Parts: sequence; C-alpha cells; structure tokens
Amino acid sequence: MHGLMMDTPLLISSLIRFADLNYPDREIVSVTADNPLHRYTYREAFARSRKLANALRKLGVEPGERVGTLAWNDYRHFELYYAISGSGMVCHTINPRLYPEQVSYIVNHAEDQYLFVDLLVMPLVEALWPTFKGVKGVVVLTNEASMPDSQIPNLMCYETLIADESDEFDWPEFDENTASALCYTSGTTGNPKGVLYSHRSTLLHAFAGGLPDVLGFSGHDTALMIVPMFHVNGWGIPFSSAIVGAKVVMPGPKMADGEVLAALMNTEQVTVASGVPTIWLALLAYLEASGEKIPSVQRVSVGGAACPRSIIEAFDQKHGITVHQGWGMTETSPLGTIFKVKPTMGELTKDELYDLQAKQGCGVFGIEMRITDENNEPLPWDGEAFGTLKVRGPWVIKDYFKLESVDNPLDEEGWFDTGDVATIDPHGVMQITDRTKDVIKSGGEWISSIDLENVAVGHPKVAEAAVIGRYHPKWTERPLLVVVLHENAELPKADMLAWFDGKVATWWKPNDVVVVDELPHTATGKVNKLGLREQFADYAFPDAD
Ligand code: ADP
Repeated sequence: MHGLMMDTPLLISSLIRFADLNYPDREIVSVTADNPLHRYTYREAFARSRKLANALRKLGVEPGERVGTLAWNDYRHFELYYAISGSGMVCHTINPRLYPEQVSYIVNHAEDQYLFVDLLVMPLVEALWPTFKGVKGVVVLTNEASMPDSQIPNLMCYETLIADESDEFDWPEFDENTASALCYTSGTTGNPKGVLYSHRSTLLHAFAGGLPDVLGFSGHDTALMIVPMFHVNGWGIPFSSAIVGAKVVMPGPKMADGEVLAALMNTEQVTVASGVPTIWLALLAYLEASGEKIPSVQRVSVGGAACPRSIIEAFDQKHGITVHQGWGMTETSPLGTIFKVKPTMGELTKDELYDLQAKQGCGVFGIEMRITDENNEPLPWDGEAFGTLKVRGPWVIKDYFKLESVDNPLDEEGWFDTGDVATIDPHGVMQITDRTKDVIKSGGEWISSIDLENVAVGHPKVAEAAVIGRYHPKWTERPLLVVVLHENAELPKADMLAWFDGKVATWWKPNDVVVVDELPHTATGKVNKLGLREQFADYAFPDAD
C-alpha cells in the first residue's frame, strides 16, 4: 500500500521558486574578473536565471544535453547552476586547472553543446578550441566592454545574450531522477570519469548539508564559499544556502588570496567559510603576517584533503574559530562525513578535541559507511581496525557516465569502494589513513602517510609535506618524507626526524627526509603522490644496504 502523500518531484527549480519568494532581499556578493565587488539579491539572481533559461532554449539546447562551464565562484556561475539544471539540461562543471588534454577529453566525452567561460579562462579555451568536436559556441562570462579578441567563430557575450530575454520562464516539471549536473574526477591515472548527479540526489544532499551538525547553515549566516563551484557542486553550498536564505559571498578568481579573503570576511561579516586545507594555510599565513583579525567568522569547514592539526589549532587559538573537517569525494556529491562533537563524548580537553577534529568525522544521515577487510567482511568500529572504506546512499554514484555496465564501481552488495583506507571509532568518528594506492606497508603492517604528513606540517619551518612508501630491502617498504620549507628556512634532517619523537609510534618514523622546492599537485590542489613516487622511483634509503 502506498502512502497518500503528494508525489512532488524534488527539483532544483523548486529552490529557485522558494528562495525567490522567501528571501528576495538576501544578498549574493562576488568578486569577478570584471568587477571587484558585485552585489545583488536572490531575487535578481533568479530573475537573471530565468532570462538565461530562455536564452539557452533559443540556443537550441535540448533537455538532457550538456552545457559546460569553466568558471570561478561568482554570481554568473550561480545563475548557470540554476538555469541549466532547472530547465532540464545538464550543468557540466569543468575544472580549468585540469591538464589541457583532460579538459579537451572531458568536453568531447560529455558532448558539451556550449561552453560558458570565465574571461580569465579564455586563453585556455582559445588554445583548445580546434580540439573540441561538437561545441556549437562559447559564451564569455562578462559584459560587452570586456569581451576578448578571439578566433572562436561563435563567440558570445553573456550579458548581451541574456539582456533582451524575458524574465518570465515556466520551469518545467519532470522526474526527480533526471540528470542535473556532471562532474569529472580528476583521474590521476587513466581518463577522468564522469559522475552524473540527479535532481533528487542534489536536493537530498542539500537538505543534509544544511543540517546543524553538518554544514549547519541558517538564514542568519553569511557563507563564504571558497570551495570551487567547478568541482563537486561547491559542496552543494549554492543549494543549501538557498534553502535557508543564507547570504552568499564568492571570491571569484581570488580564492587563494589571503588578503582578499580576509577583506571579504570583514566587509561582508562572514560567519562561516568553507574550503580545502591549502586555502586555509594561505589565509592563516596572511593573518599572521598582517596581524589582521576576522572576528565575524565563527566556523570553518574543511575537506577534500586531510586537514593538519596545526590549522585547527591556529584557527582556535588565534581566532576563536571552530574547524569542522569533512570527508567526501566527487562520487559522493561530495558530503560523506563531518566532525561534530557528540554529547556522549563527555568532557574533552582541548588536546582531545583537536585530535578528534583532525579526523574526518561522523557519517551524515543518508550515507551508510563501513570498513571491510580483504574478504569484504565488515570490520569493527573500534578505532583500531583499518579497512577499505565503503559507502552507499542516495547521493552516492551507481555508475560512471557512459561507462554503465562497463566499469561497475559497486561491489556485489551494492557498496561503493571509495579507494580510501580508514578506521572508525566507537563514536562513529572515521579517520582516513590513506588512499588504497598510497598505503605504506612496512613489514606487513600499515603506516598512515596522512598521520605522518600532519605531524610534519605541524613543524613551524615546514610549509608542505608528503610521505610516500619506497622500497626497503628489510621491510619491503618504508616511509620517505618529502618536505617544502617556508621561505629562507633551513632544517637539518636530524631535527626534522626528531620532531616525530613522541608524536607517532617509533616504527612509523620516516627513514629519511628530502627537502624539495615544490611538490607536484593534482588539478584539485592535492599532492600528486603518483607523480611523487615517479620522481623518487630510483631513490634508495641510506640504511638500505
Ligand atoms: P579528486 O580525486 O578529483 O581530487 P575528489 O575530490 O573526489 O577528487 O577526491 C576525493 C578524495 O579526497 C577522497 O577519496 C579522499 O582520499 C580525499 N579526501 C577528501 N576529504 C578528505 C579529508 N578530509 N581527509 C583526507 N582525505 C580526504
């Protein structure tokens, strides 16, 4: 017997209607290539989204077809999110920092009909234009005065495109399982793979993201969204914020600029901000050097890569800001876990709290997680057992785009293998120890490279650190620490290694440390361990004879 409730589909356009009516005057503020501080309201944003939806129809884009964006976080990208998905097309966000060949592969694989491109990304698109197979035109996200010279035949100006369109648009109704957005993983090996989100998965994820113990948005918040909208839907923040009418602030191309971020935080009275660890390192370094304060900020969400404890401590001790670390991936929309203090954790000392905050957090309702051994048997949640992290839920991938039945990412019980190795403690706090392909196995025992990296970056002279396993004749593999030091810093090997004493088990201590000028990174800003292992392919430990 079915329940007798309305069968209203969960559609992205419902957010537009709701926010437009309920929060018409809430502001959206952004930095763009053509405006240092653009400011308007949800009402204006949605009126322009309707104009854009009309323009997209005129361009002849059909429901289900992909429209690509290569853009930073700003109000025009926000409008694209809503107009493309809301009218039944698929918003394909592309990371402009991917290798050019990958951008070209992705655009062709997705069969993008049009590309909406930030002014600053135009040189890349110009260079790649001859490689695009089916793109019918490029729309530059700017006004007529700032249009670049270009050889691209069907080049349009965003502001001109929407200027004369009507702001009346009847958002179509369709099945909530219709595709809404597409995002490719950065694919450190092989070609990038497409994750195709649906309206239903996006709305459920947005509801969960807004919960008090998840990203915790309220209408009173001003959210600085530094997580890129070109990757994993900006953690769903463009949607979660519209549910409650939070003010949204977006840094455009300035997301790694500590000075601009601090200025935005202060002028806009930001209460909550979200970004990857490297962004916070940049901001904290700027605040330290300038002595500036950011008193309105109450909490910071961090994810995408392990957040070193030193970031958590600096935010708390110097700025009174609580850090919430979360874990997720493109395939999980991305929210999977986030750390929150549970009442059953009892009284925690600062030290215990920092230790917990440095872990990846607790499951978000909607995501089931488990860790399994090599026989796919679930392991206990005792904080000790390491295993493959698997998840399932309504915003977890079922199949990769155009690889259906070719590359089934689920195990026989329907769980998605995240490629991460983790422990889960009795409170449900998950800790990632490594990616499966990065684990270091020394004498048959696992060593967590992430733990070692977190300790290393806690050293005041270390700017960035990575640990990789290298061949060792006695132990098969041992950890090699590779560090980048702060400018003009010097750090003798012995001092760096002594820093680990008392902080990790003795047998985890790296066998050697190498100082480099920079580490290789992926397009999402993470250390490219594969590249690093290649760089150190011929390396031999000093104690290897
Ligand atoms: P990409 O592989 O394109 O960088 P993702 O953003 O999907 O794409 O990366 C997801 C991976 O990032 C996770 O599987 C995990 O290894 C890592 N990750 C994400 N958040 C955290 C975190 N808080 N701590 C440690 N690792 C994390």
